Amino acid sequence: MEEKGTENGVAAMAACYQGFDPAAYLQYNYTPPRADFERKDSIVPWKLACLHRAFTEGDVNGELLVDIGSGPTLYQVLSGCEVFNKVLLTDYLEVNRRELRGWFQDEGASSLDWTPYLQHVCKLEGRRPSAWTEKAAKLRQVVKDIVPVDVHRPQPLSLDDLPSAGADCLVSCFCLESVSPDLAAFTRALGHIGRLLRAGGHLLLIGALGESYYFGGPGVKIPVVPLNEAQVCASLKESGYTLIRLEVYTLPQDMRVGVDDVSGVFFAKAVKE
Ligand code: SAM
Repeated sequence: MEEKGTENGVAAMAACYQGFDPAAYLQYNYTPPRADFERKDSIVPWKLACLHRAFTEGDVNGELLVDIGSGPTLYQVLSGCEVFNKVLLTDYLEVNRRELRGWFQDEGASSLDWTPYLQHVCKLEGRRPSAWTEKAAKLRQVVKDIVPVDVHRPQPLSLDDLPSAGADCLVSCFCLESVSPDLAAFTRALGHIGRLLRAGGHLLLIGALGESYYFGGPGVKIPVVPLNEAQVCASLKESGYTLIRLEVYTLPQDMRVGVDDVSGVFFAKAVKE
C-alpha cells in the first residue's frame, strides 16, 4: 500500500517536470540578485565558494566526477573540472540535456552567458579573470558526456556510463529534494545515488532548506520536500554517508524574488562509508 503511494508520488513529480522551461529557470535563479558577483551575500557566489573550498582541500580526488541532476546549469562543475579528468553531466529531462549540449557544442546556443561564472571561479582560484577562456576549454575537454538519470531508480544511470568501481565523487545541487514526493523518497534517492559512488568517494550535496515549491517555468509550480538541517544530516547517515561538514546560508530578504519559497541553502560534504 505504502509502496503504491510512493510510486504515485514519484509519477506525480515526473508529470510536474513535463512543463520545465530551462531558459526561464536560468533566468529566475542564475541572474541578479541571486547571481550578483559584486555581492558577498548573493546565493550563487556562496555556492561557488563552498564548491571551490571542497574541491581544493586535497581530499577530493580521482578520475571521475558525476553531477546528478545537472539541469540546464554548469556552475556546479566549474571547480571540479580542474581536479577530475572525466566529468559526466546528467539530467532526467531531454530539454535540459539539450540546453547543456548547446554550450558544449556552440556557446552561442546557450540561454545564459556563463562567462561571469567562469571569471568568478578563476578569481577564487587566484587566476586572472581573463583565464576564463582556459577554464571554458578545460570544461569542454573533461566533460565526456551528458546522459539521462533517474534518482528514483535503484540504478539511476545506465551501467554503460560508469566504471564498475563507481565514480570517485558525486556533486548534486537542488535535485533530490525537488524531485522527491516526501522525506522517505529523498532519503531513498540519496541511497540510490550512493550506489554510483566508490567506497571512500565524496558526495558534495547542495540543496534547499524550508522550501515547499519552486517555479520551473511560467505557471509550472513544482512541489519540494521542505528540509531542515537535522533531516539532511539524518538522511545522509541513514543512506551510508559520513558527514564531514554542513554549511548553511540564509536567504536575505531581497533574494526572495517570488520564484520559490526557499528560506536557506545547505552545503554538505560527505564521504561514502
Ligand atoms: N542542478 C541544477 C541546479 O543546481 O540549478 C538543477 C536543479 S532543478 C531544481 C532539479 C533538476 O532535477 C531538474 O533539472 C530536473 O530535470 C531534474 N529531475 C527531475 N526528475 C528527476 C529524477 N527523477 N531524477 C533525477 N533528476 C531529476
